[in-house]
Amino acid sequence: MGGKSFFIDTSRCTACRGCQIACKEWHGLPATPTKQWGSHQNPKDLNFYTYKLVRFSEHEKRGKLVWYFFPDQCRHCIEPPCKDVADGYVKGAIVKDSETGAIIYNLELMKKVPFDEVREACPYNIPRQDEKTGMVAKCDMCIDRVKAGLLPMCVKTCPTGAMNFGERDEMLALAQKRLAEVKRKFPNAQLCDPEDVRVIYLVLDNPKLYHKFAIASVTPGITRKAALRKLLNPVGFLQTLG
Ligand code: SF4
Ligand code: SF4
Repeated sequence: MGGKSFFIDTSRCTACRGCQIACKEWHGLPATPTKQWGSHQNPKDLNFYTYKLVRFSEHEKRGKLVWYFFPDQCRHCIEPPCKDVADGYVKGAIVKDSETGAIIYNLELMKKVPFDEVREACPYNIPRQDEKTGMVAKCDMCIDRVKAGLLPMCVKTCPTGAMNFGERDEMLALAQKRLAEVKRKFPNAQLCDPEDVRVIYLVLDNPKLYHKFAIASVTPGITRKAALRKLLNPVGFLQTLG
């Protein structure tokens, strides 16, 4: 298969949020005004200007409080459902980079693709829209840096070794090696959908305890609905394109 992948070892994440800030800095994205809402997670959710968000969750385990950290971002799916939807409307709105496998959005063309269908097709609830302009954005794998032989900014910044990036086979091997190590102490440890995505997370417990969309969650019918509309009513479908 080839291409690039991330390996995100949440067992090494200290939730410093360096990756989140570095992502913003590299992409020239403005800060999101926030206020204290009872969690260290800030902002509350991904948005058009926040491609990467370190999610926090608290749980009680055997009478002790545990914190789980999950640096959330686009998974650069091997077969991206968001692209399936966009291809039905505007070719080139979402492309897969042949060298790296990165899934890249064209912000302008994405204005012509129904946002609700794209977002609901995404098994990880990633794309976000700017309501003013209609543009849709997400992590772009720092494709400009990667093409220049540099690491994605989040990986470059991470001080703990939680964020890793490289050739896909090397990242899969690293993920399996680390999983074997942590399994001795954390029997529920697992990799999240490693065969389906280019952003492979290692978690020490049930992935849903980290984040509702840590592993793929499918909204039934959306992608199928878009495909059916094309097959059953091509004229009507073309009319929707204006
Ligand atoms: S995680 Fe969502 S937005 Fe990213 S490539 Fe997969 S389907 Fe598309
Ligand atoms: S920079 Fe590394 S340690 Fe800090 S929040 Fe991001 S993944 Fe976690």
